[in-house]
Amino acid sequence: MKLTVIGPWGGYPKLNAASSGYLLEHNGFHLLIDCGSGIVSKLPNILQPEELDAVIISHYHPDHIADIGVLQHARLIQGYLGKKVPSLPIYGHSLDNYEFAKLTYKEITSGIAYNPEETLAVGPFHVSFLKTEHPVPCFAMRIEAANKVLVYTADSAFKEEFIEFASGADLLLCECNFYGNQNGQSAGHMNSIEAGRFAQQSQVKQVVLTHLPHYGNVDQLVSEAAAEFSGRITLAKELETIKL
Ligand SMILES: [Zn+2]
Repeated sequence: MKLTVIGPWGGYPKLNAASSGYLLEHNGFHLLIDCGSGIVSKLPNILQPEELDAVIISHYHPDHIADIGVLQHARLIQGYLGKKVPSLPIYGHSLDNYEFAKLTYKEITSGIAYNPEETLAVGPFHVSFLKTEHPVPCFAMRIEAANKVLVYTADSAFKEEFIEFASGADLLLCECNFYGNQNGQSAGHMNSIEAGRFAQQSQVKQVVLTHLPHYGNVDQLVSEAAAEFSGRITLAKELETIKL
């Protein structure tokens, strides 16, 4: 598995950057995890939007779905220009019918509801879900292929169930929207200390902190989390690729 960070920012994108979006590849299959603002602009650094094989969405906040509409337009227009562009499956939960309906657009994309109680097969990946603590329904994902495990928390305050869900993961892509002296509970986000503690308790091999805040010195998130976690810990960085 190969994970490339496309958008590391929480809430909205920084100048010339993108909010939540991650490209996961295995055996030539390209899965985009979340599709926030700026993702369609940044993705062609790695591959063209019409080359995606599937998209999976954690929840329907704008910083995770803002570019779904423009992704649909990109594939529509490339089709008009003569490229062969197959219909793209976009997996999302169906707990919000209004937002779920927007995942389907003409023959260009088709929204497919995942059942969070079951494991979902997407190309070579097997995805299981955990409902997170967030103001709207949101699902963390445990994604497995070739005996490697990526866990993506999506957006969430810390919850005990995360520890088992992420147990032994090769890579934990952990949201960290708050500094250690802040309480993210009511906003539905984790702080750096909670992220580090959670990683330690789950015995994950490596942590990448993401959904980063727009203020303060984000390097501080790493030092605070590293005080709790003994493994490798870094910040999500645009276009950085991590091989599992
Ligand atoms: Zn959110």
